[in-house]
Amino acid sequence: DYSYIFKLLSLPDDGSISIDNVEVAGDTKYVYISRPPIPTYCPNCSCRMHSEGIYKRKIKHPILQDSTCIIFIVSQRKWKCTNCKTYVNESYPFFKPYKQSTDITPMLILEAMKDLSRSTASIARQFHLSDTKVHDIFTAFIDLPRLKLPEFLSVDEVHIDISENEKYALVLMDFASGQIIDILHNRWQSTAEDYFLSIPYDERKNVKFIISDAYKSYMEYPQQFFPNAVSVLDSFHVIKFLTGRINDYINLVMKSYKKKDREALDQS
Ligand SMILES: [Zn+2]
Repeated sequence: DYSYIFKLLSLPDDGSISIDNVEVAGDTKYVYISRPPIPTYCPNCSCRMHSEGIYKRKIKHPILQDSTCIIFIVSQRKWKCTNCKTYVNESYPFFKPYKQSTDITPMLILEAMKDLSRSTASIARQFHLSDTKVHDIFTAFIDLPRLKLPEFLSVDEVHIDISENEKYALVLMDFASGQIIDILHNRWQSTAEDYFLSIPYDERKNVKFIISDAYKSYMEYPQQFFPNAVSVLDSFHVIKFLTGRINDYINLVMKSYKKKDREALDQS
């Protein structure tokens, strides 16, 4: 009885789709699915179409509850119009043509991402997808409106493992109110460029101060994106910067004494 699969995918259990077999291999269920042939007419010229054969496609459907994965082996007919040479693939209600996972996959992934303690990588593993794919789904579905650019814009990075290459997210904050303006998924120059240049020039003109650490790219934000802004090192980073310079100086002095000592030693 495969009625649970029909329920799972909200499919009509009316004979328009049939489940021919289910195989279980480890954590994976293979579900063989097909449609009985129904007369199909050309979308172009309305002639009756002819079957060009049946192709088997693999469609992944990750299941959240028990970490098993369903793979549908879908028998999909290819219809051909002999009159105008149009080809049409038989359609199924739960996946789009050319997609390799079912329609509800993104919803399940977004649901899993609500758990803030989980990394993208672990979600990718659970759904048998790549990190990049999970990240793409997130950005495709989540559109968090950013706040308006403030006069005092604070720029800083936070360490978050988004993917192999993206280890730091860029956090934009209103320095005065502490509100997060937006978060960029990395701090690359190209990302910042795409992002800031997409904000209207008039809005960027309102930014007067960019508060950041001494990271060179941040220091260049005013001349690149904010015509009326100046860079400001925030006090925490100023102290860090000064301590660094003092340490450099101390090391320099120590080195020079070592050198003098060595020379004195050599002469004696
Ligand atoms: Zn046709």
